[in-house]
Amino acid sequence: MKKIWNLETKNLIQQRVELYGFVDNIRDHGKIVFIDLRDRSGIVQCVVDQNNNFFSLVKNLKPASVLKIIGKVQPRPAHLENPRLETGKIEVAIEEIEPLASAKDLPFEVTTDGYEINEALRLRYRYLDLRRPRLQKNLRRRHEFLLFLRNFLDALGFLEIETPILTKSTPEGARDFLVPSRLYPGKFYALPQSPQQYKQLLMVAGLERYFQIARCFRDEDPRADRQPEFTQLDIEMSYVEREDILNLVEKMLVEAIQNLYPQKKITKIPFPRISYEEAIRLYGSDKPDLREDPENKDELSFCFIVDFPMFEWKDPEKRWDTFHHPFTQPKLPDDSKDKDEIIKVLESNPQILLSEQYDLVLNGYEIGGGSLRTTDPDILIKVFEVLGHKREEVYQKFGHLIEAFSYGVPPHGGIAPGIDRILMILENEISIREVIAFPKTGEARDLMMDSPSEVNEKELKELGIEIKGRDLKNKKDEK
Ligand code: ASP
Repeated sequence: MKKIWNLETKNLIQQRVELYGFVDNIRDHGKIVFIDLRDRSGIVQCVVDQNNNFFSLVKNLKPASVLKIIGKVQPRPAHLENPRLETGKIEVAIEEIEPLASAKDLPFEVTTDGYEINEALRLRYRYLDLRRPRLQKNLRRRHEFLLFLRNFLDALGFLEIETPILTKSTPEGARDFLVPSRLYPGKFYALPQSPQQYKQLLMVAGLERYFQIARCFRDEDPRADRQPEFTQLDIEMSYVEREDILNLVEKMLVEAIQNLYPQKKITKIPFPRISYEEAIRLYGSDKPDLREDPENKDELSFCFIVDFPMFEWKDPEKRWDTFHHPFTQPKLPDDSKDKDEIIKVLESNPQILLSEQYDLVLNGYEIGGGSLRTTDPDILIKVFEVLGHKREEVYQKFGHLIEAFSYGVPPHGGIAPGIDRILMILENEISIREVIAFPKTGEARDLMMDSPSEVNEKELKELGIEIKGRDLKNKKDEK
């Protein structure tokens, strides 16, 4: 590969270089033309004068066209240096130029920060929007952050293990995205709301320390800052206490921030551990914003909320739901985990139970949650019964887990910090869409791919699916 990054030119004075990139800007001064060539690393000024036989070709170039340039790096005369450009002390005298692709006029400016442009238009042309230096920076930071997490966990003996996308429903409190099965008409896969059951089964399998940069899918009602798919750093560990998990996450985030965001100030280390009851009493919220100066954009205030109630009453539906998910270990208000007593309370008085759930909160956002898990099948089944499932139904839906737990299950627990939201906060962005390469709109649409979209009759037929109320549906699409 002969390509060098544009920014490398600044150290290559008097050398011949081969550059590739987009025309960022072109300035025609009559007898001399300047091209600002932009690649992922930045901009370098290239220059050509009228004595060159390709002068007219250069004069006709349009912004955004793609070029190969061979030229010599030369210092600029002192009074023409540009201190705002990293390569501002040099320029490249073009010796050969080859247009690789022409470009139509872009639908919007890609050199500004982009906040001024209608977001729907930006998302419609996301591949152009992503040329914007701000978004390139966000994607690079996301990569660096994830790479840091991977290396951090790898050094502690964690294995990164992929789990299926085509799976079976796992209750995380949201609706599932369903995928019809062609081979088994009338049957469906579900996209994972999280890899929860798989990661627990990996503990049964004896893997002990697992992580995954996992995509999670939840079919919830649209909200401005919600995505139907999002990314979690999914973690599970065997033979741990709650503090082992909280300390791990704390150390990982502190080190990541110190390395990648040294300008940020973390309000308090260790992160405060606050009980749910105390958080509600003191702050009126289970995701308190504990920043000392909320105006300071570089302050990061983490805390863990612990000792959540196990259940909450859903009034409209008149039923109990879990605060976290059914796999979380319940405990008695005095912290005891006496099995007989817990079963008794589950049957008679479930609202008094607390749980081993913990949430990670940053600047008033819940950015992750986790728990120690129930490994006792009797308690797990009882929890499902409190949630309104019949015993047979529990076996039908979760029989694999209950069976797995009967073959020797290490005590285990985990957590799943949400990557999109953490990065949004670290990058001082206004929305998680700004740190995701190809996000959907707040209404869960992909405006670039035009998805969701209809599929043809043949495909539906193969799946044994018939769309009812087509007229109604078409009307909704026209909106
Ligand atoms: N699966 C949980 C969630 O997505 C996280 C966990 O319990 O580890 O919130």
